[in-house]
Amino acid sequence: MQVTFLGTGTSQGIPVIGCNCEICSSGDPRDKRLRTALMLEKGKDRLVIDTGPDFRQQMLANNVKSLSGVLLTHEHNDHIAGLDDLRSFNFMSKKAVDIWAENRVINVLKRQYPYVFADKKYPGTPELVLHEINQGKIRIGAFEVEPIRLYHYKLPVLGFRIDDVAFLTDVSEIPPESIQKLTGLKLLIIDALRIREHISHFNLKQALDVANKLKPEQTRFIHISHHLGLHATVNSKLPAHIGPAYDGLSMSI
Ligand SMILES: [Zn+2]
Ligand SMILES: [Zn+2]
Ligand SMILES: [Zn+2]
Repeated sequence: MQVTFLGTGTSQGIPVIGCNCEICSSGDPRDKRLRTALMLEKGKDRLVIDTGPDFRQQMLANNVKSLSGVLLTHEHNDHIAGLDDLRSFNFMSKKAVDIWAENRVINVLKRQYPYVFADKKYPGTPELVLHEINQGKIRIGAFEVEPIRLYHYKLPVLGFRIDDVAFLTDVSEIPPESIQKLTGLKLLIIDALRIREHISHFNLKQALDVANKLKPEQTRFIHISHHLGLHATVNSKLPAHIGPAYDGLSMSI
């Protein structure tokens, strides 16, 4: 399976509009972070997790021409604001795009994109089929996806385990029953917003604590803000198998 980091930034991305800090003005391309999203590829199947405001750029940067489906972690704008751009895939495949999300998220999508889900649709609007995630595994083409319950402050959100890869974004608490589903990972992808603590995201120390507990072969951090530090500096202080991800990083797992 090929795992590609489409975006690794927090809700504002990096650089932040109007910010002249060392990170936002860094010349290192790894310090430029689009909003967090992941792509998984297996044979001819391709899955994307989250369609934030940078979705169009992410599809262009990675020359993506087909999608087997989309998984959504939660309804915050930095994870769903690119939904309309899925229509490009309708035009190419002449088919609807399948989206999987929890019921609460589906209701938000219907409210935020009323023209997409209207009975009488305006011509040219996206063709999306919504599938509700309940409990248990989901089969999408070659992928078997296990939803993992996480908490983003008090909001229940979903992480996903696909084979031995787990994607846990926008998380500040992993309940014990979810920890049990995260053993034996080859790659842990986990929220590490910044150095200081935050109410709704893990900071670097908390993300490291999870990695030390689960002992995956490799760990990469996502949903990174300009308060984490320069990519090169953060990376140099960590062991080789743990470190921040960067946009465009692609790993064969
Ligand atoms: Zn987010
Ligand atoms: Zn900055
Ligand atoms: Zn969020």
